[in-house]
Amino acid sequence: MSTAAAPSTAVVSGLMTTLPAGRVIDDPDVLASYAHDDAEWAPHAVPLAVVRPRTAAEVQDVVRACLDHRTPLVPRGAGTGLSGGANATEGSVVISTEHMTEVLEIDGAERLAVVQPGVVNDDLRAVCAEQGLWYPPDPASSPWSTIGGNVATNAGGLCCVKYGVTRDYVLGVQIVNGLGELVRLGRRTAKGVAGLDLAGLMVGSEGTLGVITEVTVKLRPARAPEHTVAGYFDSVVDAGRAVAAITAAGLTPSALELVDRTCLEAVDAWKNMGLAAEADVVLLGRSDAPGAAGDAEAGEMLRHFEAAGATFAAQAADAEEAEALFAARRLAYPALERLGPVLTEDVCVPRAAVPEMLGRIQEIGRRHGTTIANIAHAGDGNLHPLLITPIGDEPARRRAQEAFEEILTDALALGGTVTGEHGVGLLKRHGLEREQAPEVLAMQRAVKAALDPHGILNPGKVV
Ligand SMILES: Cc1cc2nc3c(=O)[nH]c(=O)nc-3n(C[C@H](O)[C@H](O)[C@H](O)COP(=O)(O)OP(=O)(O)OC[C@H]3O[C@@H](n4cnc5c(N)ncnc54)[C@H](O)[C@@H]3O)c2cc1C
Repeated sequence: MSTAAAPSTAVVSGLMTTLPAGRVIDDPDVLASYAHDDAEWAPHAVPLAVVRPRTAAEVQDVVRACLDHRTPLVPRGAGTGLSGGANATEGSVVISTEHMTEVLEIDGAERLAVVQPGVVNDDLRAVCAEQGLWYPPDPASSPWSTIGGNVATNAGGLCCVKYGVTRDYVLGVQIVNGLGELVRLGRRTAKGVAGLDLAGLMVGSEGTLGVITEVTVKLRPARAPEHTVAGYFDSVVDAGRAVAAITAAGLTPSALELVDRTCLEAVDAWKNMGLAAEADVVLLGRSDAPGAAGDAEAGEMLRHFEAAGATFAAQAADAEEAEALFAARRLAYPALERLGPVLTEDVCVPRAAVPEMLGRIQEIGRRHGTTIANIAHAGDGNLHPLLITPIGDEPARRRAQEAFEEILTDALALGGTVTGEHGVGLLKRHGLEREQAPEVLAMQRAVKAALDPHGILNPGKVV
């Protein structure tokens, strides 16, 4: 009879032996809290262990231990992901970057920052602001989500409509690949085309190609204060027409966000912010053009709101009112989660198709008897219909799942994509297969096999 430890136990004891005390958690109660990210809807399991390394060398030790035991390793930042990318799978080890939170360097002259992956987005932005600098990518989860998670999902955000997404700011990364090799990819210089863009490959790779241990990002100088406008609409389609018109007119708002009554009421019920809108839909626009140009752009947006049928359109009276409106937009998702399980959509359609897509989403909700709230990075055509089901209502959950699939069908039919920013993770794997040709999926699998030949990095996610 063999006395060898079961593989699952062996990997945990191997990790405990290799790493300094306190790095490895195996307390079942704590492990349960790492079973899934914010996509509880997607399949998940309690991991064998959670490891919280502090250095790149420790990350390398973790990858090597998992490699030795052929144990799946699930990278995790803050767990705010909405596609199940950080969900633990059966027999996996979760590697959390929560203790890798150092801003290693801010270089004002080169306008770049070097950070550990667990630095929270808002924390980096605050450190940059102290030096008159700005890190633009601002997912609505910026108070919690990490730069490593943002890079791994190529996160978008509110100002991306003007300034681009995370990919546009990543100069270089340090990673540990699936062979346990610790390597630097990319550059620190303003330009650089040495070889294939492997740093770019890591952006949006959702933990399937390497564990990111350090990130070098581009910064911009701090910008002018923003002008905020709000428009109230009786229908999502009218609000969508305003978005399409603003884009067609060539305006460059620094944010153009949509939030509907269901979301505002949920935020109000939670935070008592006195927001209850006298409209079904609110469009929030911002301009950061300096001086009079900002006023003029804000005025143009208001004219488009009115032309599209806004029942009320005005510039925010002061910074406090403007902040409250955007805070409500940011809080909409957690506020809705309090009402019941939320299945979050993330389709992105051409901006001209925003009104049509919003109308179709409404119709799909009606047909399936599913409550669908809406928030959207409307200026990007990136829509987040939020399908809400009562707790424990299985038939409602099934109907919501059908509605979810139909929304994907319609987005693809309108020339869109199944995921604008949340990633494929587990929730969009079928969607990816519907969107991309078999040959393209095969190319993606070939890349995965090259960097992670034993398939230990976040297996079962994306491709
Ligand atoms: C309220 C709310 C608002 C949101 N708003 C936005 C938004 O505006 N825009 C947007 O794009 N997303 C948004 N999201 C989704 C989510 O916040 C982003 O996907 C974010 O980038 C995830 O960061 P995280 O640190 O929480 O990563 P996690 O959720 O922990 O992980 C996300 C993915 O990245 C991988 N990963 C994490 N760290 C690493 C690492 N160091 N190395 C390799 N892989 C890694 C994980 O395996 C997983 O696949 C929102 C979520 C919530 C809850």
